[in-house]
Amino acid sequence: MNVTLSEARRRKAHLYLVGGPVRDLMLNRRSEDLDLVTEGDTEALAMGVAQAVGSKAVLHRQFRTATVKCEGARLDLAMARKETYARPGALPTVTAGTIEEDLERRDFTINAMALGLAGRQEGRLLDPSGGLTDLTEGVVRILHRGSFEDDPTRIFRAIRYEQRLGFRLESGTLSQLSDALSAGMLAAVSPDRLRNELQLILAEDVPVRTLLRAGELGVLHGLYAPLGQADWLRELDEEAEPLTLFAALAFRMSQMEGQGFIARLNMPTEWAEVVTGMVQLSSDAPRLKDPMLSPSGAFRTLESCPIASINAFMLLTPSVVMRERLAHYSESQRFVQPLLRGGDLLALGVPQGPQMGEILRRIQDARLEGEVTTLEEERALVLRCLADLQA
Ligand code: ATP
Repeated sequence: MNVTLSEARRRKAHLYLVGGPVRDLMLNRRSEDLDLVTEGDTEALAMGVAQAVGSKAVLHRQFRTATVKCEGARLDLAMARKETYARPGALPTVTAGTIEEDLERRDFTINAMALGLAGRQEGRLLDPSGGLTDLTEGVVRILHRGSFEDDPTRIFRAIRYEQRLGFRLESGTLSQLSDALSAGMLAAVSPDRLRNELQLILAEDVPVRTLLRAGELGVLHGLYAPLGQADWLRELDEEAEPLTLFAALAFRMSQMEGQGFIARLNMPTEWAEVVTGMVQLSSDAPRLKDPMLSPSGAFRTLESCPIASINAFMLLTPSVVMRERLAHYSESQRFVQPLLRGGDLLALGVPQGPQMGEILRRIQDARLEGEVTTLEEERALVLRCLADLQA
């Protein structure tokens, strides 16, 4: 940071700390990243800093940003910009601007402050929209009417900051948010951007609270109608794995709804499989709730299902039998393996081919049923299987 400052001063550049880090500094919270903005030649400053620290600047010309990495630290430099939106949900058109214009295009007052580090506003806090007051009062407020129409992903951002910081949505912001939802603004957002917003919620420290708030405000319904308010998520705690939490969203979805959800977010394979797993568990539920189902029967029903889906269903199902079965699978059954390997079976006279797989499955089933526990018992079982095959 010191190098960046002296390089900026040497070049007479106008440099600012902006957005999240300023907000977090005022709140005395740890900030993950250092967002810096310059008015003027961002590339030249980035390259100057890189040269001074013996590193390289990575330039993202399309976004007019640059990154310099040095000894594990990362510096993100952006050019001060103006933005215009061709249509709701579209990515903005970006042109060079002043820091004041850059702050105007931001999402909320609490994110629209800058601290002058070098140049014409060194040492000054720029707070044109009253972000400091809103920080003190615990309020998330958009900068202008139409902000959610310009960029409906701000709907998700508003809820994330509200829940993360324990703030509340300012009343005008809340009604604008509701209007944007009623007008179907989320329909204009691409699946990839929506998925990114959901992913950011899942990465929060309080994802459950954030999702429940999104449900309550109708955001989840706007995202994909079958999610409704997703109030079943109340059963989950904040420590759940992100993928498990994500799986929980698909609780009780029919196959068609699951397919629709996958398409709505253009899900990558891992997410799509988790949704399909949830749908499968719903359809397997009657079987898994049956107290007469054998341990190996439960294992075979569950073995192709992603563990995130199993864990989510376990936390959500009201059925005690099914919950215990899923917990047993998750905690122990899925690790059960025969002690004997393919090579051992060959040595015992089992031919290569499908029979070998079949016998390994029989040993695994026998272990799950508690019929064999030792190596000797497994060997005896193999010999019995061979005798059956030869009979
Ligand atoms: P955090 O990373 O802690 O969630 P942040 O404020 O750093 O918070 P980023 O998503 O990294 O958030 O964005 C950096 C800054 O860019 C924000 O503080 C905000 O000023 C601005 N910004 C980000 N997304 C938008 C958006 N959709 N509309 C307007 N401004 C935005």
